Amino acid sequence: MSIPDPVVAPAGKVVGVDLGLNRPAVTSNKQFLGERRWKEQERRIFRLKRKLQAKGTKSAKRHLRKLSGKLLRQRKDHDHVLSKRIVAHTPAGSTMVVENLTHIRSRARMKKKTESQRRLHSWSFAQFHAFLTYKAQEKGIRVVKVDPRHTSQTCSRCGHQARKNRRSQSLFLCRECGYCLNADLNASHNIREKYLSSLASLGISLVGGSSSSGLSSQPLVGEGQAPGLSRGGLDTRPHTL
Ligand SMILES: [Zn+2]
Repeated sequence: MSIPDPVVAPAGKVVGVDLGLNRPAVTSNKQFLGERRWKEQERRIFRLKRKLQAKGTKSAKRHLRKLSGKLLRQRKDHDHVLSKRIVAHTPAGSTMVVENLTHIRSRARMKKKTESQRRLHSWSFAQFHAFLTYKAQEKGIRVVKVDPRHTSQTCSRCGHQARKNRRSQSLFLCRECGYCLNADLNASHNIREKYLSSLASLGISLVGGSSSSGLSSQPLVGEGQAPGLSRGGLDTRPHTL
């Protein structure tokens, strides 16, 4: 049981972050973060693990234990580096929006994205999210989660949603309006937009979509900031009501 945090309209900028495989993270600020080689590094170990599992001998099991430890350490390392970079590229006082990938493996609807795009099948979102959240809090950045559905298939310009919109792993081309851009960047805009519209549906309006319209005590779906973290002293923008 958790008590939902009170919802506050974002005071600073709102930044959407898409977590993927081609690029570990792409932000709506057009930052492409993380290393492409991570995918191959992690995959190599993953494949080797599979091989050893199939072998099943005593020595194979011993190697497997070592390898599992190695993979976990490597992921942890990558998660630390990636979360650090995302926070470094996000202004203090902003709200960072990520997809909630907690139950990603049990979601049949997300199957396609899970298998082809997520960093790895067994990648732990919980660990990454924990790293991201504490690093963000140190800088006065709030991390919120949104439902990941359709974020990769929807056009961030006209809102047209179709699976065919996604031309390839890296390119998005809207069948309706012809908007063409990096697929992960398009998703990051949708992730940001999802959060903004969830605020709008609660009657919290945003000025210009990026600055605050004041405070609200209404509860919001998803995550709020951790108790005890004060953003009041960090945001120096004038607030309008
Ligand atoms: Zn479009």
